[in-house]
Amino acid sequence: MSEEIKGYFHSKETFGTVDGPGIRYVAFMQGCNLRCKYCHNPDTWKKENASYTMTVDELIEDILKYKSFIRSGGVTFSGGEPLLQPEFIEQAIDRLHSLGISVAIDTAGFYNFEKAQRALTECDLVLLDIKAIDEDMCKDITGQSNSFALKVLEYREKIKKPVWIRHVIVPNYTLDYKLLEKLADYLKDFSCVEMVEILPFHKLGEYKWKTLGEAYSLEDTPVPENEEVIMAKEIFKSRGLNVH
Ligand code: SF4
Repeated sequence: MSEEIKGYFHSKETFGTVDGPGIRYVAFMQGCNLRCKYCHNPDTWKKENASYTMTVDELIEDILKYKSFIRSGGVTFSGGEPLLQPEFIEQAIDRLHSLGISVAIDTAGFYNFEKAQRALTECDLVLLDIKAIDEDMCKDITGQSNSFALKVLEYREKIKKPVWIRHVIVPNYTLDYKLLEKLADYLKDFSCVEMVEILPFHKLGEYKWKTLGEAYSLEDTPVPENEEVIMAKEIFKSRGLNVH
């Protein structure tokens, strides 16, 4: 019987196809300490605004309802920032592994690394959001240093476990070919990086900021053109990286 830790959840996706390989049960955890300017889920920021809580047993019971669908994929913990709830995630990983279910964690790295280390070690795949390779820009976009995310990448390299990088390209910020080259040059030396996902900035979450009474600063920022997305991807491909 698992210790009765409760996980705080925003929502779930039972047929997820964009958060890791195969078809996945995606648990969106509540709580995040970053404040990305382009966040499309600002309603995940405050842990106390969770839509529901579950014990590990309850979560596993729910996941097992979809076991036949997720056989080719697994479970992804996303958010918000799932590793702000490290004990819950650790216990869930142990249970899922005992059932033969693969686990991915979608993380931006901003939490107590030591507390999250076991989950970062045990999970089968890390989807790592690198918000900006330039330190000042990262602070501008998220409010925090990029050193936290880079530490997670270095750790997964050390333990030789796979990482998929996620990078949002935002006009006037990260959609800058010099910076994309710098990021690609940095990533190409990591053998743990299996994939780089280039995600074009979008404004689908803008209305949530307004609903929450938060000031959205990217109102006038355009979304990237298709050609710009293609060119951004080419930069990573030219360094021998797999790009999606
Ligand atoms: S890390 Fe994700 S959830 Fe947190 S503020 Fe940034 S985009 Fe939003």
